[in-house]
Amino acid sequence: MRVQALVALLDVVAAQADPSLQLTSRAALQLRGLADPLPASVVDGIRSSGLVPSATHELVRNVVVSPLSGLDSRGVADLRPLTRSLDVAVRADAELAALGGRFLFVLDDGRGDVINTAADLSFVATGPGRGIVRAGRADHGWDVSIDSAVPTIVGLAREFVGRAAGDESIWHVDDLDDPLGGSATARLPALPAPSQPLGAVGDHAVVAVPLGLLRPDHVAALGRHAESVRVTPWRSLVVEGAASALPHLEAAGLVTHAHSPWARMHACTGLPGCARSALDTRALARELAPVLPDGRLPVHVSGCERRCGTPETAYVDVLEPTSLDDALHQIAAQPAEDGSRRVDG
Ligand code: SF4
Repeated sequence: MRVQALVALLDVVAAQADPSLQLTSRAALQLRGLADPLPASVVDGIRSSGLVPSATHELVRNVVVSPLSGLDSRGVADLRPLTRSLDVAVRADAELAALGGRFLFVLDDGRGDVINTAADLSFVATGPGRGIVRAGRADHGWDVSIDSAVPTIVGLAREFVGRAAGDESIWHVDDLDDPLGGSATARLPALPAPSQPLGAVGDHAVVAVPLGLLRPDHVAALGRHAESVRVTPWRSLVVEGAASALPHLEAAGLVTHAHSPWARMHACTGLPGCARSALDTRALARELAPVLPDGRLPVHVSGCERRCGTPETAYVDVLEPTSLDDALHQIAAQPAEDGSRRVDG
């Protein structure tokens, strides 16, 4: 997306005390703290970003794609054309407006970075012109040419809409009693998940966003050094053509190397956004980051036992800390390497 689109979205929340855009684990941007129902000025402001091309299908345009596809040589296919085709095909199909906001499409360019995301329909490239379409979390799918991928995915999505109609307990493909699409015979390739990139990737920069909150100073720095960015599912951005600007992006508060404590810090929404919390979890995370003990696991601060937004990997659990000292005490009581607790959130 154009950096200008981020500027337009920040304008919408400019009047908030701490304006920011939240990056989500579905590679989307979230604006929080808006009035319900949305005032017309907010709707117009969001539309001016150019990111909402469909009034009818906006909720269902949920597509996670290998973020570096077409920008480096690690994937076996450039999925940019396929991504555009899928978006156009979904928007053109009136029935697919019924898919719902939780339905997720995932497109992996063969490097294995997103294929393990919990998807409803996915495609993984096995070569420049072929790949496997998968329904839900099945370990088999359909071997298709890349030209057939979109029609196959759309056909499966239409079948899902038909089978889920009238049953409000069905949100996902894996909620169906019988497999979608009948028998699938192509086994998915075993792809070890690569580590999440950070720093320079060829001519491009990958930067993490502290706590997943993109602030005006971050966006101003992005605008000085790039025209386009891609949102990843890992609270980071691919900044196209900006490898040489990494020091400037870091100076603006974006994270450019894995040993930064900000690469490990996570927090739920907490106060003031969530009334279930007794503390401002993000403020505590900001206090904690500069004094974070060494370790490799992510550290997640939660305002209550729901533990919203926990990492999908093992992590260090900081639950309802009463102070910075209490948070440090909780961290010290847990292993800092893999093997510590894991809670699926
Ligand atoms: S973990 Fe609890 S306090 Fe934090 S956002 Fe979720 S519900 Fe709110």
